[in-house]
Amino acid sequence: MRFAKVLLIIVASLFAAVPAHAQFESVEDYPDVIDARVSATPERARLIIDLSGPTEFAIATLDKPDRIAIDVKAFDLKILAPADVAGKGIVSSYTVEMAEKGRARTTLTLDKPAQVQQAYILDAVADQPARLVVDIIPATAEEFSRKVAADLAASIANQGSAPATPSTDPGTHAPAAETRPLVVIDPGHGGIDNGASAPNGVHEKDITLAFALQLQKVLIDSGRFDVALTREDDTYLTLNERVDLARQNKADLFISLHADSFQQADIRGASVYTRDENATDVLDKVLADGENRYDIVAGFAVPQATPAVMDILVDLMRRETRKSSYLAAEALIHQLEPSVTLRRFPVRQADFFVLQAPDVPSILVELGFLSNAADIANLQKSDWRDRVVDGLARGIADYFEQTQKTLAATQ
Ligand SMILES: [Zn+2]
Repeated sequence: MRFAKVLLIIVASLFAAVPAHAQFESVEDYPDVIDARVSATPERARLIIDLSGPTEFAIATLDKPDRIAIDVKAFDLKILAPADVAGKGIVSSYTVEMAEKGRARTTLTLDKPAQVQQAYILDAVADQPARLVVDIIPATAEEFSRKVAADLAASIANQGSAPATPSTDPGTHAPAAETRPLVVIDPGHGGIDNGASAPNGVHEKDITLAFALQLQKVLIDSGRFDVALTREDDTYLTLNERVDLARQNKADLFISLHADSFQQADIRGASVYTRDENATDVLDKVLADGENRYDIVAGFAVPQATPAVMDILVDLMRRETRKSSYLAAEALIHQLEPSVTLRRFPVRQADFFVLQAPDVPSILVELGFLSNAADIANLQKSDWRDRVVDGLARGIADYFEQTQKTLAATQ
């Protein structure tokens, strides 16, 4: 058990490295661990620990065998035996145990060298408990050994002073690119076009603007993106004008934010759409058709879809753009998943006119539905907005990291 002891010391001494998230008087104030689960693919793995409240955590990388250990300050374990890893990939198994009084340890056994991509605590909101989310991605053998050595050295040095802190902010886990990608955020509706309305009189146009302004701030604060909004106040814009703004500014990603009404009041949760003439299902088609008609409601002509372009180059470009749009939708959903309730099959397709730029990857985020009582309540909570916006920002960072990697690989 010598090795367990070493592990305990290493991780414990890294606690000081983590910015204090919660203030505790004593061990009795620590939250309980309610649940823990791990999913894995060959490209990534994710650990989610549900907690009865926010806490502090520390992470250490260890070899022989290769592991990543995650300690949280916790009073007790309220979970039964942990389930198997969902899927097959870089984490082969894991254990959760009380390492000592006040400290719960999750140990991930790695199938191949891996590293923490990001780790963060989510505060509880609505029906979502407080959580620790740890995302793991593959590492080279050299990167892995360097991390093992660094954690060991930090733990020794840390008997006195704190080493570098692990990243917990959205989008800070990768080095800043030389030229920043431009993200155009489009708060749906505006001005005479209220969009959907909740029974309490709240309009979609106000919700989308609040989310857009906050997302802009979070992205700019990360230092990694340039951000433009199609509207910054309660202004009306046609769908064409929104698309043109993205195209003229040569946006690298266009995100239209919505919180529409759905025909079925029981449908709730966030989802991300990419454009396809063939909608995922009939209700999605109705949703997109309704959305495309808002211009008429506002007294403008029906938006005309671009006539079928015969030019094969434009066609190829469009295909490439669609692929990128889909990757962006998947990245956003992956990062929203630990944070909020998602709709079933959350990456969806429908023929939204606002997503028609052939040269700008474009996605439409339905934050929730103003036809569902639980979503209405969430959409108006600032802590829920924080959680969603941080998830969106992480997804955007993830998407650009992936595309930059692809670019580097093809150069
Ligand atoms: Zn809408």
